[in-house]
Amino acid sequence: EQASNHVHKLMDSYPGFPSPGILFRDLTPVFADPIAFRAVIDALMHDALTADGAADVVAIAGVEARGFLLAAAGAYSAGLGVVAVRKAGKLPGDVLAQSYDLEYGTAELELHEGRLPAGSRVLLVDDLLATGGTLAAAASLVERAGYVVAGIRIVLELDGLGGRDRLTGYDVQSIAHC
Ligand code: 5GP
Repeated sequence: EQASNHVHKLMDSYPGFPSPGILFRDLTPVFADPIAFRAVIDALMHDALTADGAADVVAIAGVEARGFLLAAAGAYSAGLGVVAVRKAGKLPGDVLAQSYDLEYGTAELELHEGRLPAGSRVLLVDDLLATGGTLAAAASLVERAGYVVAGIRIVLELDGLGGRDRLTGYDVQSIAHC
């Protein structure tokens, strides 16, 4: 609740970014504030470590790019590893690719194969849940790589866009909603 107050107090909203009709929620002021950032990371990881069966998480997976900030801080604080779910074309070697639909066109995310032992429990994090397409694609990459999605943690969930409905079957928790 403390963390959610920080999010609501510090986030910015930009109408028309990155395209007309979009109300972009900017969480970078939350991350820039030392008290708020720590509260957010602690809240993300507290959930991770107390959720049923999630105590054996071995790594945090962050979605490029803002998810990286959260995954690295959370993993460091809990003594876990980090894996990067990247936009297409950034990772060398053997990668799995997953495309997903955007409002106009498609996008693609990639994940390295073989970075963790098969069956590893991985917590997936991102800054924001909107339609859920991004995190659904990221979750399927984690599973196709042979890992288990221990949970999905989000800083801000936009209610009413159906994002949660695309993530049924996962333990999805958000710090704040709007
Ligand atoms: P979705 O796939 O759920 O529609 O969109 C979520 C993804 O797009 C996340 O990776 C998130 O970073 C980005 N995103 C979409 N809308 C916003 C927004 O209003 N603010 C921020 N910070 N990210 C957004």
